[in-house]
Amino acid sequence: MQPATKSPSHLLTSLSVCFYGRGREKTDAESPRSWRSYNVGIASTMRHASGQFIRSRPRLERVLDRILSPAERLTKGLLFNCSMCGQCVLHSTGMVCPMTCPKGLRNGPCGGVRLDGTCEVFPERECIWVKAFHRSVRLPWSEEIHVLRSPVDWTLEGSSSWINFLTMRDQINSGCASKPESALDMVALDGS
Ligand code: SF4
Repeated sequence: MQPATKSPSHLLTSLSVCFYGRGREKTDAESPRSWRSYNVGIASTMRHASGQFIRSRPRLERVLDRILSPAERLTKGLLFNCSMCGQCVLHSTGMVCPMTCPKGLRNGPCGGVRLDGTCEVFPERECIWVKAFHRSVRLPWSEEIHVLRSPVDWTLEGSSSWINFLTMRDQINSGCASKPESALDMVALDGS
């Protein structure tokens, strides 16, 4: 049997596991939760402040986008086969780009995934959602696979998702009342 070829994104997943530890099987008692929440709090404050700063300066935003878009296209193109949708969700999809799904599905597989885990459209390929699930369970933030991801805002296509993340342009606000953010909450609601 031939050894499976490791893609760059697969290696990145392994690196994350080395640095942060393995996901899912960790219990609350084992997780350095307070440390993690503290860091998440700082990162979120910094993101908010820098995002506001950039967003209030459209010229700066355009310049940053011009500089960062090619860098993002090159690096993420090589690593993740990125097609620059402008609102990156790699973090919650096991570092597998959902835009590589021939149907562009961002919230899990279609009904056509085959029993052996291959794609309905390209039977020679593994379903990207099977791959995403297997990789996500190895990550320390494995629970993020259940996050409900918004539809693609095509007006952001081609722009830097790094800038859109900072300026929060990647956060679609439908104007609807609060909605569950996780598929698990949806299942709980359905069963109640
Ligand atoms: S989700 Fe979008 S930005 Fe992220 S890797 Fe895929 S195409 Fe690129």
